[in-house]
Amino acid sequence: MSSRGKLVIISSPSGAGKTTLAHKLLDEHSAHMQFSISYTTRAPRRNETDGVDYSFVSVEKFEAMAEAGEFAEWALVHGNRYGTSLAVVEEALTTGVDVVFDVDWQGGKQLSEKWPDDALMIFVLPPDLDILADRLRRRATDADDVIERRLKAALEEIGHHQLYPHLVVNDKLDDAYAELRAIYLHCKGGADVAPEVLEVVRTNENAGGRAHAVKLMQAASS
Ligand code: ADP
Ligand code: 5GP
Repeated sequence: MSSRGKLVIISSPSGAGKTTLAHKLLDEHSAHMQFSISYTTRAPRRNETDGVDYSFVSVEKFEAMAEAGEFAEWALVHGNRYGTSLAVVEEALTTGVDVVFDVDWQGGKQLSEKWPDDALMIFVLPPDLDILADRLRRRATDADDVIERRLKAALEEIGHHQLYPHLVVNDKLDDAYAELRAIYLHCKGGADVAPEVLEVVRTNENAGGRAHAVKLMQAASS
């Protein structure tokens, strides 16, 4: 593969479904797509594997890596440090493999500012805030106080939706995935994309994701 890989950046408030959607995209395009395994100082959840979901490191190790310039970006999220390996970004850009990044808005901003021509930025929104809370609780991987903190942080994250050219509302998973997939294929294929893919991209553009994000923020403040 000779062309540059895409940096597929997927962000959302915690619980909106970005990991689920990202893994569907990765499963379908595994031949030329990989997941960027971030480094984090957060403790692993019971269903997570070191080196698969994240590389779990100590604060000291993380700081040494940051100091050595090993991160393409890093940020403090929900009280823990998270960072993207610079080597992974460089590999994508030189080998043509697309890379999916599950990062918060701070990570999305830094990556897209450094590589504006290579980044595809997608923000996933929940249908409403009650459903977001429900998904976080049903995931049952975090303690109650962590879930409460993440719900509060959700609104701050949604407040940065303007950074993202593409918004996907994750109500029915299959519909949300069809939109994410079409946005990706359109970005890769440009004018050569199949008419049915273009149709889904247009549906997504007309779905009012931007207005939905504003509505979510208004609902929270009322
Ligand atoms: P995030 O990565 O954004 O924190 P996850 O992908 O972990 O979110 O999803 C949070 C929870 O919601 C998981 O239990 C997941 O299975 C569930 N979920 C994701 N998308 C949907 C959907 N469209 N409908 C119902 N449940 C969903
Ligand atoms: P979680 O602890 O739920 O896995 O992730 C918490 C938040 O950290 C999510 O918004 C996720 O997208 C973000 N995140 C994960 N890895 C990185 C990273 O490498 N950089 C940044 N900036 N955010 C990350």
